[in-house]
Amino acid sequence: MALLQIAEPGQSTAPHEHRLAVGIDLGTTNSLVASVLSGKAVTLPDAVGEHLLPSVVRYTEQGVVVGEAARATLASDPLNTIASIKRLMGRAAEDIKTLGEQFPYQLVEGNAATPRIQTIQGVLTPVEISAEMLKVLAQRAVETLGGDLTGVVITVPAYFDDAQRQATKDAARLAGLHVFRLLNEPTAAAVAYGLDRGADGVHAIYDLGGGTFDISILRLHNGVFEVMSTGGDSALGGDDFDHVIVEWALLQFSFGDVKPALPLIRELLMQARAAKEALADSAQAVLRLNDQEIALSRDTFNQLIDPLIRKTLTACRRALRDAGLRVDDIKEVVMVGGSTRTLRVREKVGEFFATTPLVDIDPDRVVAIGAALQANALAGNESENAMLLLDVNPLSLGIETMGGLVEKIIPRNTTIPVARAQEFTTYKDGQTAMALHVLQGERELAADCRSLARFELRGIPPMVAGAARIRVTFSVDADGLLQVEAEEQSHGVKADIEIKPSYGLSEGEITQMLQASIEHAGEDMQTRKLAEQQVDAARVIEALNAALADDGDQLLNAAERQIIEGALTHLQQTAAEVRDADQLKVAITELEQTCDFYVERRMNTRIRQAMAGHNVNEFQ
Ligand code: ADP
Ligand code: MG
Repeated sequence: MALLQIAEPGQSTAPHEHRLAVGIDLGTTNSLVASVLSGKAVTLPDAVGEHLLPSVVRYTEQGVVVGEAARATLASDPLNTIASIKRLMGRAAEDIKTLGEQFPYQLVEGNAATPRIQTIQGVLTPVEISAEMLKVLAQRAVETLGGDLTGVVITVPAYFDDAQRQATKDAARLAGLHVFRLLNEPTAAAVAYGLDRGADGVHAIYDLGGGTFDISILRLHNGVFEVMSTGGDSALGGDDFDHVIVEWALLQFSFGDVKPALPLIRELLMQARAAKEALADSAQAVLRLNDQEIALSRDTFNQLIDPLIRKTLTACRRALRDAGLRVDDIKEVVMVGGSTRTLRVREKVGEFFATTPLVDIDPDRVVAIGAALQANALAGNESENAMLLLDVNPLSLGIETMGGLVEKIIPRNTTIPVARAQEFTTYKDGQTAMALHVLQGERELAADCRSLARFELRGIPPMVAGAARIRVTFSVDADGLLQVEAEEQSHGVKADIEIKPSYGLSEGEITQMLQASIEHAGEDMQTRKLAEQQVDAARVIEALNAALADDGDQLLNAAERQIIEGALTHLQQTAAEVRDADQLKVAITELEQTCDFYVERRMNTRIRQAMAGHNVNEFQ
């Protein structure tokens, strides 16, 4: 709806009716709120001038504390101080166990869908905890700007799935905010640089944070901004820079006979991080440990991190390939995330894309600034330049078909919102229900994809196999939420489902799923061909059995029947044993040939029956 409002010229408001709208970067570590003031998007500071709100919430007997004051008690009050809650948004309690991460706070055991955390203020969910941060940011905006908030744009990682997006929206609703829409973080960064106002072209958003790397390829075309592909590495970031420095430093310092203990490594990690950040401005940094000092030159640092930077460029190459583009198709490269302050990163990224990357906007604030610009437009404060942002679905969506295969309905990297339909049919004569299994992933077999939901279409009028036409429509809205509808075409029986999967996927899992689909591509193709032949064999066997039961006794003598049944058994065995699609295909053809005379006889009988009582001339 909101997207339409901005496209309607009549809907724009007069300048004096400026509606208050903000963009919120709800981050794992830090969050920010930004707004457009006198035509310029700026992040809003708190009372003491801080722009970044640490994403930490503390529950006390008196109430809730958010931000720096909460972060200060992470160590002293770990049970009531919750950090990095973004990682639990939209995830199931079950999944938390498999994250393999330790949480300092107390997760409540039980079979609730969402993880719940025990605090002094009672049991709380990630949605409730996130809502506290949103309330503080919204309050900051109201106090700074005055007036009521019309609505907000909240950014989410491009890889957030339906459940994670839904959870983010729920948190906003709980905080009493009207969400114009969610916006992918890289898309927001592109908007911050005003790329949406420039000439048509393709841009790359390179986001290297502390623990993750994301690359997004965006295209501006006819005033429409579209995400063509996304990619990255969920386990690669500035923290890895720190690690390689520590490994190097351990070889430089002398420890005598004693092995460096954990507290020392921790100290060294902090030194490494400080040195790395200092190297953004100076050619050399010093690491100090006890009474020793070693110098880290920028050259050495560059050598240490080059392999890590190369990994990010590999992901860039893949994202380009997904978008069907080459390096020289990219016009601008936007740098996002604290680690893009490292000069070597800028240099290598510039070399790769053969262009100087955009670094003018603070890489920590660029996402919030873009969100603010988008919120301002959606609030109706922009009369011209209606802006429509399209995103992309990161993994293919499809349904399971006979033989455990997946039919992809919306391929991965399709721009959204999107609706696609495909027709399916029944497998058996007289089939009146159809089981629909909705899947997400790139593999050919349903078992290798992620199951999103199952539902049934009932009340299909009985027809022969293959006669029913069932139209299955997948629609993904602007926020990436999926709706699936199945409709039988002749009688209009319908069933539908809205997918809010009970658990989410991490970026790492998505990367893994994509990786697996590449690794198994050849093998999957074989499996698919085999499964198709198996479905075919089952269909032939089923039809032949039905025919034999129907008129086998009348049309076949004992010897003929034996031949056919022998061939039938042979195909059944082959289908059960053979793992080679071609071999199975041969067996199917053999059975069909063996049965040719029987099929012909059946047809003749039908014709004879049809003609009975009619004049031959009627048929000419
Ligand atoms: P995230 O998105 O993961 O929360 P950020 O975008 O805030 O992370 O980036 C955090 C990372 O940026 C950390 O690894 C930090 O050391 C790094 N960083 C911050 N400032 C600098 C700098 N001046 N030079 C290099 N790295 C920096
Ligand atoms: Mg970030």
